[in-house]
Amino acid sequence: MTKLIILGSSNAIPDVHHENTHMVLAGEGRTVLIDCADNPILRLPRVGVEFDSLTDLILTHFHPDHVSGVPLLLMNMWLMGRRRPLNIYGLHHTLDRIEGLMGDYSWDEWPNFFPVVFHRLPAGEMTSVLDCEEFRIFSSPVRHLIPAIGLRIELKRNEKVIAYSCDTEPCAPLIRLAAGADVLIHEAAGGALGHSSAAEAGDNARQAEVGELYLIHYPTGKYASGDLVAEARHFFQGPVSLAEDFLTLDFG
Ligand SMILES: [Zn+2]
Repeated sequence: MTKLIILGSSNAIPDVHHENTHMVLAGEGRTVLIDCADNPILRLPRVGVEFDSLTDLILTHFHPDHVSGVPLLLMNMWLMGRRRPLNIYGLHHTLDRIEGLMGDYSWDEWPNFFPVVFHRLPAGEMTSVLDCEEFRIFSSPVRHLIPAIGLRIELKRNEKVIAYSCDTEPCAPLIRLAAGADVLIHEAAGGALGHSSAAEAGDNARQAEVGELYLIHYPTGKYASGDLVAEARHFFQGPVSLAEDFLTLDFG
């Protein structure tokens, strides 16, 4: 059983019902956290995922609403006696800064710290991030304000494909990354520089010929406006939904 669980669905300004965008891919052998906005120790138990079962952490880019939870995540794992290694994947731009941030916390002086293995990803299209028994994960550069990657997850058992846009303007590498995916999870922060509107997300879903579209990283609370699903449906004929916190997508 492989599930993708949305742990947060908001853009950079969360509200009480929507944490910043991050999610977990829970498989049988691997549990992959995708971005770490908040401290996931509070949300993982609510979705039945053991905190210490996290094997991998993919960081899409070094913006606070995607990585600010990393120091606390690592500290809590250490304080709870973690011994098993944690793999962290990201672009050089991202991981250099994460290491710098942890250096500022003097983590090298934390006794008996568990092994953290950094995997620096090249910025090329369809870079292999992780290849295990259950799934393959690829990254491609997308067009944001700083270096950022979108992800493609291919399940080996049933050939289901999930794509995640990350924060991006519409761009060709994203269309290629998402091509033919069963599910596209696409940001809808609005049409500002480095982001996409719901209409653009719909248009990207159409171009990539995906099966289904979930909008994420959208304005929430007092910043929410308009009918994002209707805007996306204007361009994409398939099913469109808002990804909400704790939404679970079951991929069998
Ligand atoms: Zn961002």
